[in-house]
Amino acid sequence: MNLVKPIVGIILAFCAWGTDSVFAQSGDQILDGIGETGLIARYTLEENVKDWSRNNLHGNIGGSGYEFVDDEVFGKVIALSGDGKTYISIPGELLAGEESLSISAWVNLRSAKAGAPLFDFGKNNKSTFSAAPAGENGFVAQVAGYTASSEAAALNKWNHIVVVVNVPEKTFTTYLNAEMVSEVEDVEVELKQLFDSRKGNNDQFVIGKSLAANETSLDAKLHDFRIYRIPLNRRQIGWINFSALHKEEAEEMMRNRQEAELQEFPETTPQLYTQYLNGVETIEVETEVGFLPRLPRFVKGVYSDTFEGPEVRVLWPAPEDNSEVQSAGKYTVTGRVAGTDIQPTAIVTVVEHDHDRHAPHRTLEAFHLNEVQLTEDAHKHETKFVENRDKFVKGLLETNPDNFLYMFRNAFGQEQPAGAKPLGVWDSQETKLRGHATGHYLSALAQAYSSSAYDPAIQAKFAEKMEYMVNTLYEFSQLSGTPKTAGGESVSDPLAVPPGPGKEGYDSDLSEDGIRTDYWNWGKGFISAYPPDQFIMLEHGAKYGTDNDKVWAPYYTLHKIFAGLMDIYEVSGNEKALDIVEGMGDWVHARLSVVPAETLISIWNTYIAGEFGGMNEAMARLSRLTNNKSYLETAKLFDNIRLFFGDSEHSHGLAKNVDMFRGLHANQHIPQIMGALEIYRDSKEPEYFNIADNFWNKATGDYMYSIGGVAGARNPANAECFTTQPATLYENGFSVGGQNETCATYNMLKLSRNLFLYNQQAELMDYYERGLYNHILASVDEHTPANTYHVPLRAGSVKHFSNEHMDGFTCCNGTAIESNTKLQNSIYFHSADNKALYVNLYVPSILKWTDKDITITQTTAYPKEDHTTLTINGSGKFDLNVRVPHWATKGFFVTVNRKKEEITAEPGTYLTISRKWKDGDKVELRMPFHFYLEPVMDQQNIASLFYGPVLLAAQEEGPRKEWRKVTLDAEDISKSISGDPEKLEFEIDGVTYKPFYETYGRHSVYLDVRLK
Ligand SMILES: [Zn+2]
Repeated sequence: MNLVKPIVGIILAFCAWGTDSVFAQSGDQILDGIGETGLIARYTLEENVKDWSRNNLHGNIGGSGYEFVDDEVFGKVIALSGDGKTYISIPGELLAGEESLSISAWVNLRSAKAGAPLFDFGKNNKSTFSAAPAGENGFVAQVAGYTASSEAAALNKWNHIVVVVNVPEKTFTTYLNAEMVSEVEDVEVELKQLFDSRKGNNDQFVIGKSLAANETSLDAKLHDFRIYRIPLNRRQIGWINFSALHKEEAEEMMRNRQEAELQEFPETTPQLYTQYLNGVETIEVETEVGFLPRLPRFVKGVYSDTFEGPEVRVLWPAPEDNSEVQSAGKYTVTGRVAGTDIQPTAIVTVVEHDHDRHAPHRTLEAFHLNEVQLTEDAHKHETKFVENRDKFVKGLLETNPDNFLYMFRNAFGQEQPAGAKPLGVWDSQETKLRGHATGHYLSALAQAYSSSAYDPAIQAKFAEKMEYMVNTLYEFSQLSGTPKTAGGESVSDPLAVPPGPGKEGYDSDLSEDGIRTDYWNWGKGFISAYPPDQFIMLEHGAKYGTDNDKVWAPYYTLHKIFAGLMDIYEVSGNEKALDIVEGMGDWVHARLSVVPAETLISIWNTYIAGEFGGMNEAMARLSRLTNNKSYLETAKLFDNIRLFFGDSEHSHGLAKNVDMFRGLHANQHIPQIMGALEIYRDSKEPEYFNIADNFWNKATGDYMYSIGGVAGARNPANAECFTTQPATLYENGFSVGGQNETCATYNMLKLSRNLFLYNQQAELMDYYERGLYNHILASVDEHTPANTYHVPLRAGSVKHFSNEHMDGFTCCNGTAIESNTKLQNSIYFHSADNKALYVNLYVPSILKWTDKDITITQTTAYPKEDHTTLTINGSGKFDLNVRVPHWATKGFFVTVNRKKEEITAEPGTYLTISRKWKDGDKVELRMPFHFYLEPVMDQQNIASLFYGPVLLAAQEEGPRKEWRKVTLDAEDISKSISGDPEKLEFEIDGVTYKPFYETYGRHSVYLDVRLK
């Protein structure tokens, strides 16, 4: 086909950029160079009208004038007859709340008659977005009254048509065979005007016919109809077009891909304080043979004249192995400072490895959720914490547990009780991750039960739900591997599970007709919302995908279920919950313990399919709860050898401070790191601690956005990945598809608090405060428990909330019901020997320190004021350790019973106040807030504005193409800012800034800052 020739040239040109050999995982999740998070739905139309994206938004065919026919170019395609009645409808929730939209489809028209659209989308039968042949008038696309007309597509041949609504750019564009054929500018449109952005119930999406009642329908063959939530650019459209026609070549060329399009700055652009910088001090660090040194990211700057600038961010090289430190001696590392030609120097002394090196003990413990209660603030106002907690408690109370058991019953071939409804999204019938929401739900019930000690009536309801869930799951787990009827056949050995009845091999078919339900053959103890096949297929190398020979992430789902059941066991003592986990733990152990190590390495490095959540954490925890060491060995079977140890020889890896996670999927790996720490807890093998400690340091130092999220890569082209190289957030991050997957921050918080229990570094809880206020609190809808998946931080972005009714869960909707039922879990910790208390967060709350018979009431309106009071009821001797936040550079003041303590507190430390406390003692802490900027490490004029712990977001009127420019006073930025600290509402140049956690409209979290 000659139409593709010009495009080959384009493609070769953009392939030339990326010559880095990047360890990026590949698979179906990146289709034509576009991460699957950008894809809403994909109908290949080869055999049916099913959605082949992971969202399972299957279509329906109305009418009978269609057939699937052989085709020379695409193999199999659908042919619509144009009988006036036949069309494809797709689900209404499809476009709910999206930001931009692109439609891509291959069409072979047999008639160009008007009135028969390729697609027609709108609400209440009113067309708002459509594209159609228009007879003599060519081809016409319309959105909200804007029309893009172009030449007609040739009849009786395949044409690739793409229609793009780019909301931030205000353009509406049509492409024909990868050439732009029409563009309308200044298009003022927000998709929420076009569709019912919340529920989607009134939305109608039709392919091949008009929403208006007429007698015309499309007479054409169709292939590969896709809907994207991102505005596709010319290059991406070129790829889609090229790879449809040259599949194999395209896959080869796809190796090095990069998403472009982030505002670029000339090299001369002043990057904040670096314009006053003359150099940085040389530093000296020590490390041991084999271990890469930990070089400080911030180094004291040497500024011109009397200018007092902040510490300077240095970008050090990041080796991919430890060859530099193979023997004792000295060497020099040279770094750079973005926007300057300064070359900082670090002199590294390598000393012999001390095998008896101190490995930290877990000296602290958290309080149980029912020992800490969130309260209203010092002025009797509800806090964001209480507000969000209550949205989720209310939502959870209204849930029907049978909905969360639906797919389990379906897998075990059981009747559904009256009123049971399947969950949607990733728990729907054919979704291979179904059951994941149930795991989160079990955890949420356990936490909500424990946290609702303030209201016995609520607590009783959660107790009832927990018990029902556990009893039902227990029943199913007992069915597995036992005869259906007395004396019948069964397979109890997990290693002997046969393929399903009538099937030749294992498959992941979960359709109503295709699912196997022969639980008696599944091996003793098996529990899941799908049959065992996905676990077995994974051992045989199955990849991630929607076909029946592919899997999603079976162990990921299982981890959630294990965690939920163990959470319930711990809060309620329900032994059945633990029995279920033990039974399935044995099943997993039986299967994985005979898989060769090399195969395991390959499985756990398989993108998404090998994603196992925190199975290593769950198995280590099970070992502790049951005192059965064999589960700790099972936990180690999940070791991600490459990530943890570099290779099977344990040459380097994170255990030796080598960054092995660049370019990898963030949330696939963070829970594995948490698992390493949990293995360390009982194994005491120091390398597991080092893995967690080094990972945390690198993730927060080199990959973090200002809200605390760590993923959002443009390169590799997947918004859920770490950037391809560390400390290159601007060069390789800020994906247009989104950043900051919320569940990744949920996991980072969990890792941070758990590390702190071993190692009381304030930076861990500083990070916790950042992520809690600026991501987790900021991820919930204003009035409902709907919540975010990605939190986009490009200029003029808007948050997108989903799962208001707790009936359709993504991963992040799953962690949200957990996060918001344990908001109080890290305010206080105590030492294991109860001789010390740690106050980590300044949140209005009451702590009942049961072991010491002491109550501590924290009274504050923080962060709407900068002070807090701790009132002690009861008496006893203990060290009171309070966090002096890293940003508290304007002092930290303490009074005890109104008497000033003479102390000096370093920002970023804990301050200890020791005494024998008596009933009624009052400690007041004051830490004046101030404004400060947090620049992106490799493009420092792009920075976020903070006030104390609070990230401030510019409230934007509409979408933006470029970062918002602000000019601030170089000596003191607060001189350029006005406003009311008690409301946390500020103004710069007439634009309002509010806490990100109180921002629901368009926002700019990063600004383009000039200093004067
Ligand atoms: Zn997620």
